[in-house]
Amino acid sequence: CGIVGYVGPNSSLDVLLGGLSRLEYRGYDSAGVAVIGQDGTLGTRKRAGKLSVLLDNLKDAPLSDGQTGIGHTRWATHGGPTDRNAHPHLGDGGKLALIHNGIIENFAALKQELLEAGESFSSDTDTEVAAIMVGRAFRETGDLTLAMRQVVARLDGAFTLLIVHEDRPGEVVGARRNSPLVIGLGEGENFLGSDVAAFVEFTRRAVEIGQDQIVTIRPDSVIVTDFFGAPVETREYEIAWDA
Ligand code: GLU
Repeated sequence: CGIVGYVGPNSSLDVLLGGLSRLEYRGYDSAGVAVIGQDGTLGTRKRAGKLSVLLDNLKDAPLSDGQTGIGHTRWATHGGPTDRNAHPHLGDGGKLALIHNGIIENFAALKQELLEAGESFSSDTDTEVAAIMVGRAFRETGDLTLAMRQVVARLDGAFTLLIVHEDRPGEVVGARRNSPLVIGLGEGENFLGSDVAAFVEFTRRAVEIGQDQIVTIRPDSVIVTDFFGAPVETREYEIAWDA
């Protein structure tokens, strides 16, 4: 139900958890984060329940913090509100993490295809097919943005997706169809959010992402294309916010 992504020089855990708490007003049943740690490996923590449950879990089992990460609050549509169904979901042998708001309508057919290809699943969500598919596409292409492009072409329904891969620190790729995603522009850092509340504490400069578009953020660049890879024009605006 809420999405936040970060690349930059600061603690991504601080940014993600701050963003998720500002998105709490939307309502949710689970929360989770994935961070590429200083040690170069991807770490994930996710829990059913309030953000405070995730925070307790992070106290008991600290995550190696880093400068690239994604965070999610879930409103379950497929699969009950349990720890294992909470996002992020993993692909590429645990090296890739994906979060999703929305519904992948054709997930059952895709899941069948992946099972026949020898993949296994750790959740009952519609989302996990996308995590596994992007992982497979990344293994083939070595390009996270291209992997996202190949996979969204096969998805029906409504989605905001964010992905990170431990082989691509400093990069978060997002995509949206029938579900919102906004860019926050910083100095040497950039943000993604399901709404501007996710990052308004850090920047007032925002860029709307249009329908059926893909965005790649790095600390010093933001690239937006359509689902076919053609660059699109974007418009920056100032967030009006009195809080
Ligand atoms: N359909 C996904 C799930 O049930 C995402 C739900 C959401 O938008 O939070 O896990």
